[in-house]
Amino acid sequence: MVPASKTSAAALPGERHFTGLPVSGGIAMAPVRLLGNSIPEVMRRELAPEETAPELAKLHAALAVTRRQLEAIQTRVAGQIGAGDAEIFEAHLLVLEDVVLLEEIRRAITEQRMNAEAAVDAVVNRYAGALAAVGDEYLRERAADVHDIGHRLVRALTGAGEPGDLSTLREPCILVAHDFSPSATAQMDRRMVLGFVTEAGGKTSHTAILARKLGIPAVVGVQAITRNVRSGEQVLIDGFSGQLIAQPTDHTLFQYGQLRQRRVAFEERLSSLRDQPAVTLDGHRILLAANIESPADMEAVFSSGAEGVGLFRTEYLFLNQSQFPDEEAQYAAYRAVAEAAGSNEVILRTLDLGGDKLPVERTFPEPNPFLGWRAIRVCLDQPEVFKTQLRAILRASAHGRVQLLYPMIASLEELLAANSLLEECRLELRRNAQAFDEALQVGVMIEIPSAALIADSLAEHCQFFSIGSNDLTGYTLAVDRLNERVAGLYAPTHPAVLRLIEMTIAAARRRNRWVGVCGEMAGDPLLVPLLVGLGVHELSVTPAALPAVKYLLRRIRLTESRELAKSALAARTSAETLKCCENYVRSAAPELLMRGGE
Ligand code: PEP
Ligand code: MG
Repeated sequence: MVPASKTSAAALPGERHFTGLPVSGGIAMAPVRLLGNSIPEVMRRELAPEETAPELAKLHAALAVTRRQLEAIQTRVAGQIGAGDAEIFEAHLLVLEDVVLLEEIRRAITEQRMNAEAAVDAVVNRYAGALAAVGDEYLRERAADVHDIGHRLVRALTGAGEPGDLSTLREPCILVAHDFSPSATAQMDRRMVLGFVTEAGGKTSHTAILARKLGIPAVVGVQAITRNVRSGEQVLIDGFSGQLIAQPTDHTLFQYGQLRQRRVAFEERLSSLRDQPAVTLDGHRILLAANIESPADMEAVFSSGAEGVGLFRTEYLFLNQSQFPDEEAQYAAYRAVAEAAGSNEVILRTLDLGGDKLPVERTFPEPNPFLGWRAIRVCLDQPEVFKTQLRAILRASAHGRVQLLYPMIASLEELLAANSLLEECRLELRRNAQAFDEALQVGVMIEIPSAALIADSLAEHCQFFSIGSNDLTGYTLAVDRLNERVAGLYAPTHPAVLRLIEMTIAAARRRNRWVGVCGEMAGDPLLVPLLVGLGVHELSVTPAALPAVKYLLRRIRLTESRELAKSALAARTSAETLKCCENYVRSAAPELLMRGGE
């Protein structure tokens, strides 16, 4: 067989390095699997005369599969965003019925004895090239349609599945794509996906957060990577330093083998702390809890050594569902978590749909989703949906130490409105003699600058704050969490962010409220002493990051952390603050700063 296009892996030179943002630690090596908008690889083969009839049958079957895929997409899009937008798929369907194009493909199979995928590739490229060359905008767009259909047909012919379909993975691989949605990431099978690399994304995108939770090494923000590696090519990814190395040499593999061994030894040391408390050298106790997305995560919570759940992102129960789960289904999920946590706290956050977390059937285009219909706004606009969840949470509170948390509060009015719906639910449950914890604590996420600035008035109407440093950083600095072009501007140590955190803690202290941090800042060992020094009581982190945070907490002093916080608050730039943090962690636990541990 000979490659039909210039894009085969073998045509690329040997070891090549690519750098992006390290978002989930770990080292993995496997063949690449390109997904999404990647162009499928096509191999050309000469058919024996008796093979042409079966090859034509294969082509017809692939045409039928592609037609069904397009019709399904068209129906889905029509349901979600309207029939008008679904019309673009009409154009794609018409390409599939273009007699001239299909006849040419058939002739390439029967006369030139090309295998079907090579025939499709050759004819489609010629056809699209001719359309693009006309220079007319309309025809240029048709050229893109023809290419798109060609790629779909080739996928159907080679059994590669629909673009972005993770259910067809049968071999361990490193996934490479422009981007993955959080729901696609949540479906990744760890046994098949040894790591993934994307062009888009930042450290606190939900895709990155899920990768850390799943323990899948991941590197994001690697420019043009889908055009620089090929399916089947061996690559090594280093999720600690953000490297992708294509076709690594023996020397590179040896170095990474050593790094992996050091990492394993360090992990063993960390896991020996599982049942130890998170207490500083001078006896200051921090509540170290875990972030989860589903009841199934509870196993990881306990094996990480967490003391409960500091953030249950309940919206993940709602993603990938055409219907919101009813009260009973939600109650069962929340109760399972509360019971599994035993005497430990469980903080259930109410729905934070919107932004990059959208349920499949309910998406509708918004020009700026992160400033749009998200979280508490969605809930307050749909009181029945919200109250269903509130009742389920209240009922679960009869089975453990449940606390409730509202996301994305921007004003006192929102908190008061949410509290009044909660009060209605309490009354309904009392009326029906349904048990719940009368002392259930209610908390507010501080993740919008306005909330930090009015923390004193919010504190009068809640019992605790949980700082969502991911959004707080994004909204304070006007940096989109997902946009790789501005990822370098995303700085949780920016003086403005630190001042908002300090302000929140001071307001809470005046009212005797406690404060936690559940954003990714809490799981970043460099920033943990700073948060302790600023006065937070609780840190909630992804289970995979928790052992390192506990290790560090047990090596620092509260007195020194307070000094560090003072210097950080006096610093004028995020880099200055970061330097102070780095110096302190280097003196307290230098092994945490080395790639892969010790
Ligand atoms: C945050 O914004 O820091 C947070 C924890 O919420 P999420 O990441 O789910 O938006
Ligand atoms: Mg948030």
